[in-house]
Amino acid sequence: MELRVHLTFVFLLVFVLLTEWAARGGINPERGFALVGIIFGSVVLHELGHSLVGLHSGIPAKAIVLLPIGGVTLLDETRQRLEPSAGSWKRDIRIALAGPLVNLLIAFLASSILLAVSPEIQLWAKPWVFSANLPRSLVWVNIWLAVFNLLPAYPLDGGRVLRALFSRKLDPVRATRRAVSIGQTFATILMLTGMLVNVWLTLIGFFLFIAAQLEDRSAVFQSVLETVHLEDVMLTDFATLSPADTLEDALEKAVHSLQDDFPVIRGSDMVGVISRQRILDALRAEGNGYVQAVMNRIFEVAQKKESLASAFRKLTARNLSIIPVVEDQRLVGIVTLQNLMHSMALLAESRKLRKAALNS
Ligand SMILES: [Zn+2]
Repeated sequence: MELRVHLTFVFLLVFVLLTEWAARGGINPERGFALVGIIFGSVVLHELGHSLVGLHSGIPAKAIVLLPIGGVTLLDETRQRLEPSAGSWKRDIRIALAGPLVNLLIAFLASSILLAVSPEIQLWAKPWVFSANLPRSLVWVNIWLAVFNLLPAYPLDGGRVLRALFSRKLDPVRATRRAVSIGQTFATILMLTGMLVNVWLTLIGFFLFIAAQLEDRSAVFQSVLETVHLEDVMLTDFATLSPADTLEDALEKAVHSLQDDFPVIRGSDMVGVISRQRILDALRAEGNGYVQAVMNRIFEVAQKKESLASAFRKLTARNLSIIPVVEDQRLVGIVTLQNLMHSMALLAESRKLRKAALNS
């Protein structure tokens, strides 16, 4: 799993130091850093809450992107979609609530300990989050993280609960889209209100908008995956090998082709697949032989009407690099991992261009 810290954390650091400076006419950098450290640590624990419950439900996290408002845990959606089940919305709600629950737990534990150790600490006195009182800040940062993340504004956890509820009636892409637009409305309102009331709100709205945008991009990506068919992106001009070819013949053909993987065809039947690397390895290890002996016989095929998402799942689930595309048992094209990555990037671009053309 990958842990990424969003650039906005640097802004937070600068912002905390500036507030400090404005309030006291001087900066105490150590305490400012300590406060940012408390926020950072609380956000990390919040995200770990999500990823642990996710892992427990069979969806490992791919990456965690830390934003000052709570971060975004990118779950491995390809895995998730392998086993679509009727109860998946309940599972999504459990994962979403795990994060805020962690913060509430920390706030509860920290305040209990603080009150036990030093009863004179004024937990309810303002300012709640301030570097001059770090223990009190620890409690309030966690309460705020929990409360804020429960707002029904996607991609906040409350918004994820909302999306899970939408997904009972809508397909996943549309459910996400609806939740994202509610989230962006929320973010805009926060930013505007903040300008009148409190600059912190504007800042939070800004972070929220960025987070929603991150999610929106992945929703666009998902919709490309779901709506494009293999026949739109498959390679139709490709080299094939025969099982009776010798490995040296095969290598000779491979040299003249850009392909990394080759379908092996007998008559009109697909009998296997073999990669350039496999040909080379076999030649090196055992000298010349026949393609038949070293090709991979276990392979997936896809129908030309299948979606990119489905091909992607097949490729990643079995760790394959090529899928033959068939129509009525006849080989009509191939899709390789390399070619899939290229076409997805191109399709996303052309969609953006079309959107821009519509808007102008
Ligand atoms: Zn969360």
